[in-house]
Amino acid sequence: MEKCALYIHFPFCKRRCSYCDFVSTGGMEHRIPEYLQDLCREIRTQALHFARPALSTIYIGGGTPSLLTGEQMQQLMDTVRSAFPVSDDAEISMEANPGTLDAGKLKGYRSAGINRLSIGVQSFDSSELRMLGRIHTQEEAAEAVRLAAACGFDNINVDLMYALPGQKEETLLHSVRLALSLPVSHLSLYSLILEEGTVLTREVESGRTPEVPDDDAVLAMEKHLREILADAGFERYEVSNYARPGKECRHNLFYWECLPYIGVGCGAHSDMHGRFSNPDTLDAWKQCIDRADREKEGDGSIRDRMFERVMMGLRMVKGVDGRRFREDFGKTLDEAFPESMEEIRMYGLGDWHGERFALTGEGMNVMNTLLVRMMEEADV
Ligand code: SF4
Repeated sequence: MEKCALYIHFPFCKRRCSYCDFVSTGGMEHRIPEYLQDLCREIRTQALHFARPALSTIYIGGGTPSLLTGEQMQQLMDTVRSAFPVSDDAEISMEANPGTLDAGKLKGYRSAGINRLSIGVQSFDSSELRMLGRIHTQEEAAEAVRLAAACGFDNINVDLMYALPGQKEETLLHSVRLALSLPVSHLSLYSLILEEGTVLTREVESGRTPEVPDDDAVLAMEKHLREILADAGFERYEVSNYARPGKECRHNLFYWECLPYIGVGCGAHSDMHGRFSNPDTLDAWKQCIDRADREKEGDGSIRDRMFERVMMGLRMVKGVDGRRFREDFGKTLDEAFPESMEEIRMYGLGDWHGERFALTGEGMNVMNTLLVRMMEEADV
């Protein structure tokens, strides 16, 4: 039976962070019980629609899923398990905000079957946390990680951000070192993107908040943080993700390998041999939960699917699976993108390693430029 992943979106937060453009709401927690009921209905509908594929991974993201109580998480997981067969060794992750965790909740999540926790820390510097509008302090964040480990979680990710307005390299490296001193097995390091319409973008544009560091400064930060992570035994396996061996996030690997996944909840995306998405407002989503049809994404063409395979696959250090590409599209990567592939090899930005084609570290630094070039070539 084909492997499948399930993504569950939980769009509630205590308060919106200054940089956030995710599908999330602040101060709407009174709607959580109703949302949970609706979510359980959608899980059952989609399971039937897709003939109950076996789930290898489940990921509850947000928003702030750790606003759920242990009992609510148990209810959600009971629904998933009654609707889908779940592999015995399934990776079951949830995102958590340090400002919402306590021992009772963590034990409840663990007994509901959650076996991987992704904690959104973002920074261990108090002024950066204030600028980002986070609801927790650096001490609370460190304590949340220790508490999660004490409550039985042995697979913990911490999210950190860099290239923040006014950020100095030593502040970033302090955050990375502090994260490494905690019981974590995975680190996600995201470069801040100033999204249009967010509070932080307006603050920076108005000059009330300092500029983000320039490209050279960011490249230097990335180089140094990678050195620290490698020394600590964390391998980079994707553009922004580092793990101890065997602790790579299996759910995210589904996305990067373009394997099938079902997304449920407000604003969730799915790819079941065709991409589609749920409405991203609570009321519009509620209207469609009992129906299986969803808004399609992309044009579904071979060109679209080929490009997506490359765009996602090149994010991984191990690269794109060339054999699967050939089997699925009837041509090799070299035949699909002849000029780009030749240029990448000629400039030492990437190469074949057995059946996989991967970018070098330098190639990853210019990945967006390479992808634009490949997209143009696929248009011809
Ligand atoms: S906790 Fe995450 S989803 Fe919620 S507002 Fe902050 S960045 Fe957005």
